Amino acid sequence: MNNESATYRPNTLLVHAGTERTPYGETSEAMFLTSGFVYDDAEQAEATFLGQVTHYQYSRFGNPTVTMLERRLAMLEGAEACRATATGMAAVSSALLSHLKAGDRIVAARALFGSCHWIVANLLPRYGIESVFVDGGDLEAWAQALSVPTTCVLLETPSNPMLDIVDLKAVCDLAHQAGAIVVVDNVFATPLLQKPLEYGADVVVYSCTKHIDGQGRVLGGAVLGRQAWIDETLQPFIRNTGPAMSPFNAWVLLKGLETLGLRVDAMTRNAEAVADFLADAPGIARVWYPSRADHPQAELAMRQMTAGGTLITFEVEGGKAEAFRLMNALRLIAVSNNLGDSRSMVTHPATTTHMRIGAEERARLGITDGVIRLSVGLEDVRDIIDDLLLGLALLPQHGVVSQAAE
Ligand SMILES: *Cc1c(COP(=O)(O)O)cnc(C)c1O
Repeated sequence: MNNESATYRPNTLLVHAGTERTPYGETSEAMFLTSGFVYDDAEQAEATFLGQVTHYQYSRFGNPTVTMLERRLAMLEGAEACRATATGMAAVSSALLSHLKAGDRIVAARALFGSCHWIVANLLPRYGIESVFVDGGDLEAWAQALSVPTTCVLLETPSNPMLDIVDLKAVCDLAHQAGAIVVVDNVFATPLLQKPLEYGADVVVYSCTKHIDGQGRVLGGAVLGRQAWIDETLQPFIRNTGPAMSPFNAWVLLKGLETLGLRVDAMTRNAEAVADFLADAPGIARVWYPSRADHPQAELAMRQMTAGGTLITFEVEGGKAEAFRLMNALRLIAVSNNLGDSRSMVTHPATTTHMRIGAEERARLGITDGVIRLSVGLEDVRDIIDDLLLGLALLPQHGVVSQAAE
């Protein structure tokens, strides 16, 4: 399937795009578990290194199985080019470090995945890059932060774990006026439910570990953007610093993509039902789910996303003790910090993924000790709800027992 086939619809691209068969005509993509490549002769090696002929050189620079994954992801995203990386964090750090240099300035939404937050808050300033955090939902704050020349903007929408929404179009316009490129971490929305490039984003990054594998097997990441930026800015960085993806992982991820549409659809339908169930459940103070009318930014969420996604965040009445009691009562839903998996999982962000950012920053982000993040899986939704009922049964009922318990 060549590039003209990009007019196929997403579910077709997920199965076919980027496939390049060897002369054996294999059905499934070939797995090229090779670190290097051989040349016909010394002249061909020289011509390859001069860039005069196209020939794979070394799997740190490129590998045929990895290329198939990159082409499939690029066509799905509607991006000119893609580079796959070993992990999602390798994708984020490569995108930022390849573009930024000492004296530059980055503005980021405060609500970021823990390691992304660490890169902006701790790592980049060490290299003389000024970093500024803003409340991602506050357009005035973005406008103010972007009123001076800026090199890069980083944001995540919906954000982890509070599912805050950033107005992609408005922030991209402000960023471009300030001279910045916009990097969007699109993990929570997946490539199927939100297309940041259509709203003006310059670069989209993924942790392929999440929905793209979605079956808990391998780590992976991807950076997507314009051909010139990928070739001239990102590729020299990846080639020389080495965050390359393993061809084995690329092959597993190609298999994952084949069912991504089915999985995200089914998991989203489950999540919609579970969010509605939790919103009415006694002992639950609040539910955040982007497509529910009670999400504070529901209108914006549904302008830029085609559905609410596979993650729900909710707050139990009380705090850590009540949250732990609910989580420990679950038999089907696993306690795990992963997400986007075919298995349902719960996380207590305050004591795990967002422990290191500190109590003050957690308070600013709304991550209370009662907050639980639920990644809804592929199980029968009635079994997911029955499992949650086991946990809910142990919670003090609305306002009654909680007062008596003081
Ligand atoms: C998991 C995740 C990452 C990091 O990906 P890894 O594959 O674990 O390195 C980055 N951003 C978001 C939003 C994530 O959920």
